[in-house]
Amino acid sequence: MDGTYGDSTRSVKAVGVDAVPGQPVAPMPVPASTYHLSPDATEPLDSYGRSSNPSWRQLESALAELEGASWALTYGSGMAAITSTLRALTRPGTTLVVPADGYYQVRRYGAEYLAQQGVSVIEAHSHEMCDAAEKADVVLAETPANPGLDVVDLHRLAMICRARKATLVVDNTTATPMGQQPLSLGADLVVASATKSLSGHSDLIAGYVAGCQPELAERIERDRLLAGPILGAFEAWLVLRSLGSAGLRFERQCQNALALAVMLRGHPAVRSVRYPGLPEDPAHAVAAEQMKHFGGLVSFELADAAAVNALVERSELLIASTSFGGIHTSVDRRARWGDPVPEGFVRISAGIEDTDDLLADVERALPAG
Ligand SMILES: *Cc1c(COP(=O)(O)O)cnc(C)c1O
Repeated sequence: MDGTYGDSTRSVKAVGVDAVPGQPVAPMPVPASTYHLSPDATEPLDSYGRSSNPSWRQLESALAELEGASWALTYGSGMAAITSTLRALTRPGTTLVVPADGYYQVRRYGAEYLAQQGVSVIEAHSHEMCDAAEKADVVLAETPANPGLDVVDLHRLAMICRARKATLVVDNTTATPMGQQPLSLGADLVVASATKSLSGHSDLIAGYVAGCQPELAERIERDRLLAGPILGAFEAWLVLRSLGSAGLRFERQCQNALALAVMLRGHPAVRSVRYPGLPEDPAHAVAAEQMKHFGGLVSFELADAAAVNALVERSELLIASTSFGGIHTSVDRRARWGDPVPEGFVRISAGIEDTDDLLADVERALPAG
């Protein structure tokens, strides 16, 4: 990857197709389950769709390019990528650290599945990650953490993991590879949901893992082959198609998120705001060291659930929906899903609307205070 290119240039280049006169400029999906075999025993590049296929290869090379990785493996969801990676890295007796303030279903997988397999699962908050890593064989960190948006110092964490030969996996969903590149900060693996900003249109579910060590690729790919949590050819094509505009969309989302955070922190109805891009945010110093952009998510707190519902009702632009990273600005009251947050806690995902329109709309819709 040429580090001098900007995000949109990187996005557009990643979706490149070889320049062959007369061939399409746009990538094409190949929806085959099976491929012609040669008469001898040599295996062709593709034989059966669950092992490998041209649609994955195009997407995987684009994702590897964006993450600064030498390989990437795609999956049918972010959870499929994360759980496949964790299965490949853990054995009975492994000590695994997962985020206590990160994506809740990862914790559940740890408690409901991995712990039953004899893995010792430790839940640590972002601010305790480095201490918890001192006891770990495998660390899964998430930064900025969803939904609270705390930030983990990835370089420091990577140094601790390296010293004790622990494997560091970073969930890069909220930051995206445009916002930060964990591999360049010392992580062994990146896992992510491509459902969010990368595909960005709220119309598909996908995930990936990326890294630089071939030995890790082999183990994780083996799990994908045997467990089969794969991405369909059309979804792979849709993600790839979306990647071309990911830099452009993400730029606007980050701009809108910062504008919302600045407005919200001065509003009398708002009890608190977290956005790593705000200079006074407790995570700002570390975020500024390791992130290129601070992302499209802002979290804030209103008085109660009713205040959040009233905000959405009065707004013309906000939609109430879970997930994030889409073109619409969306609001999710996380307590309804059981996150350990107050009833009036909201995660807002900035869309790509015009910044002035969005600010005016949200300001008009907020309770008086
Ligand atoms: C959404 C999300 C996931 C899970 O991704 P899916 O594509 O929904 O399976 C994992 N980690 C984080 C941080 C997420 O936000």
